[in-house]
Amino acid sequence: MKDTFKHKGLRQKLVETITNKGITDSRVLDAIGKIPRHLFMDSGFLDHAYQDKAFPIAADQTISQPYTVAFQTELLQIKPGDKIMEIGTGSGYQAAVLIELGAKVYSIERQQELFKKTSKFLPKIGYRAKKLIFGDGYKGLPEEAPFDGIIVTAGAPFVPKPLLSQLAIGGRLVIPVGEDVQTMTLYVRKGEKEFERHEYGDFRFVPLLEDKT
Ligand code: SAH
Repeated sequence: MKDTFKHKGLRQKLVETITNKGITDSRVLDAIGKIPRHLFMDSGFLDHAYQDKAFPIAADQTISQPYTVAFQTELLQIKPGDKIMEIGTGSGYQAAVLIELGAKVYSIERQQELFKKTSKFLPKIGYRAKKLIFGDGYKGLPEEAPFDGIIVTAGAPFVPKPLLSQLAIGGRLVIPVGEDVQTMTLYVRKGEKEFERHEYGDFRFVPLLEDKT
């Protein structure tokens, strides 16, 4: 669990790379510059940790590309103390970025193996989520709603209704929508039944899977 000067140097290069790709929020860039991404990947992949690429983790899943993590986080416009729900905990890297920005994080993962691994790992490196949940993200967490922000980190074939209804007024849902290719989509809740919708180009994610049961 080492974080060396070499890692820090590589991280600064990564921050430069995603800045050049258009990320401007300095708090998001600082978080990416601070979090030891190499620790979220199996040790054999150390050399890849600071390239701007998605990478395999356990259970056939991936840790999202740093640019994508930064892009989605920027769209959430997090303020310290905001209550944020993440769908797709995976390696916990995106959750760490949210925690670094001062969010209270509730994150759901449907793969038990990943849920267990990440539940142990995140606190070990000092990142404490409010709650990590083993369950189905399509349902969200009605008992914890409303959320100031919701981020979906898997490709959703459609926008699950419960996620929209669990947003606070003024809250933001960032969700990649589509089958093979996904359109990054932002919903802002303007009123009880009123949502604004914006699109931000194409991305590729592993699929948001429907519950097995
Ligand atoms: N945010 C993660 C990215 C993980 S990839 C990271 O930073 O590493 C997407 C994750 O979504 C996978 O771990 C996958 O198992 C999970 N997932 C897929 N469908 C889901 C569902 N219905 N509910 C919760 N998690 C789901």
